[in-house]
Amino acid sequence: MSLVITDLHATLEDGTEILKGVTLEIPAGEVHAIMGPNGSGKSTLSKVIAGHEGYVVTGGTVTLDGQDIFEMSIDERSRAGIFLAFQYPAEVPGVSNANFIRAALQSRMPKGEELDAVAYYKSLYARMDLLEMDRKFTARSVNEGFSGGEKKRNEILQMMMLEPTYCILDETDSGLDIDALKIVAKGVNAMRSPARGMLLITHYQRLLDYIAPDHVHVMAAGKIVRSGGPELALELEKNGYDFLKDEALVSA
Ligand code: ADP
Ligand code: MG
Ligand code: MG
Repeated sequence: MSLVITDLHATLEDGTEILKGVTLEIPAGEVHAIMGPNGSGKSTLSKVIAGHEGYVVTGGTVTLDGQDIFEMSIDERSRAGIFLAFQYPAEVPGVSNANFIRAALQSRMPKGEELDAVAYYKSLYARMDLLEMDRKFTARSVNEGFSGGEKKRNEILQMMMLEPTYCILDETDSGLDIDALKIVAKGVNAMRSPARGMLLITHYQRLLDYIAPDHVHVMAAGKIVRSGGPELALELEKNGYDFLKDEALVSA
């Protein structure tokens, strides 16, 4: 069981190549981190996997437990067990958080079966308690007027409730304060399981102070250029990405 990315190439609609042959395997049970300088294609990788418009896959494959995800709609990818935090609408005016998550879970139930409301609220509240979320969030419209940290909490709550098999979290480079990082870490750590693979995409080494990844990869100019264990993240914190310049000189 794994999420396998093989020699993935993708361009913008104008033909500019952004992903230049990404190869990565995330087996169930492992937490992988992708780090790398700004503009290296980290977010593009997650958007291509999510099926965002504006990108063209020009080569390579991504499979989810052997299934080709490019043959699936965005909704099918999600039902197949892949969670991409940002695939959910940023704001859903008029729909409460509690009803939004409930509808997502209900839509995954076999036809004719009804989600048990009591059990649902019990598990929702337990997870909100873990994420230190005020109960008033259940009644508020999805993400409407939420602060960056509140949105992040909510994203992690959605992930915990949906219990996906593979989670991809792209921690956008801005606006993640230390509290938000700790919440992401708490959610990720609570969801670690032999049956679940996780990919954390981050510009910041700091997140990895709270989540010990099994593997760390460095992405630069549309490729994975280095892979290692947790020590690689520490090395990057200490030395930055200067080694990329040295390697470019060597290979030039
Ligand atoms: P990262 O997440 O590693 O910072 P991105 O994947 O966001 O990198 O971006 C990689 C490169 O592709 C950057 O040069 C960025 O400007 C460009 N890019 C990504 N998406 C678009 C887009 N929709 N339109 C124009 N340029 C884009
Ligand atoms: Mg960026
Ligand atoms: Mg990014």
